[in-house]
Amino acid sequence: MLAIDLTGKRALVAGIADDAGFGFAIAKNLAEAGASVCAGTWPPAYGIFTKLIERGKIDESLALGSGGKLSFERIYALDADYDTLEAVPAEVRENRRYKEHADFTIQGVANRMVADFGATPVDIVVHSLANGPEVKNPLLQTSRAGYLGAIGASAYSFVSMVQRFGPLLRPGGSFLCLTYMASERVIPGYGGGMSSAKAALESDVRVLAYEAGRGFDARVNCISAGPWASRAASAIGFIGDMIDYTTRNAALPQKIHANDVGATAAFLSSALASAITGTTIYVDKGYHAMGMAVDK
Ligand code: NAD
Repeated sequence: MLAIDLTGKRALVAGIADDAGFGFAIAKNLAEAGASVCAGTWPPAYGIFTKLIERGKIDESLALGSGGKLSFERIYALDADYDTLEAVPAEVRENRRYKEHADFTIQGVANRMVADFGATPVDIVVHSLANGPEVKNPLLQTSRAGYLGAIGASAYSFVSMVQRFGPLLRPGGSFLCLTYMASERVIPGYGGGMSSAKAALESDVRVLAYEAGRGFDARVNCISAGPWASRAASAIGFIGDMIDYTTRNAALPQKIHANDVGATAAFLSSALASAITGTTIYVDKGYHAMGMAVDK
């Protein structure tokens, strides 16, 4: 039987702060395939997430099909807006949600993984995070700071992760990030430069696939997911409409589920996908292929 087997692999999934988003579903699917999973959690959400786990509030979501329970090997505080501690402004470092964490930068998490697990601590690195401070503003009303903030948190953070985790990957390693088709088609309301950030991210996936392929023998891929009512997507304000419209007009007229993305992520991270790199794969029930709406 051909199966996705990630036994003995370790993953870092960056961008998990509850059980409702793609990051959680990806972590679960990687664990179902046998990987051990570490999480990277945004410091302002760290306390809430770890308490949810400690108090058993998400036990049902953590249950694995195999009978066990997803248990994160480590939960690292991670703010992907920052590459090194020297780059963090003093007011952020002193913020009460940050100061309890030693080094929450991308380099800081890389260093902690080396300290915790040795020189090559990880096989699979997943970037499942995005932030656009002005996402509710149309592009025409987006400030330079808002635009650059969206690109920094949502696109450059992936470049930085590949830079810093590339040398730490074991042979056959894989990077994965998540995008949305607003990068290539107009989705009114997905503003603040987030569409630009996703376009940059997809372009970077191609270039990084080449550079990390040659430099680290690693693969770099991207999933373009259909709409899903995660916490981040719900904050944009019209996720229900996006889901309804996409469902009515997709090739397969069904809603996507976060697990659809999780399963694809497990496949892309596995040896079954060892010849796939530099690619953006749609997990959207075929919506991207449609050229005309059918919900007349
Ligand atoms: P989510 O809320 O579950 O995940 C986003 C995560 O990013 C959160 O955990 C948040 O704490 C974290 N985050 C924000 N800023 C951060 C920072 N500076 N450093 C570290 N973490 C930070 O939402 P999601 O929708 O599952 O998003 C995951 C990925 O999927 C994102 O890249 C998103 O753009 C992408 N995506 C989502 C949809 C959708 O409809 N939900 C569709 C396509 C792509």
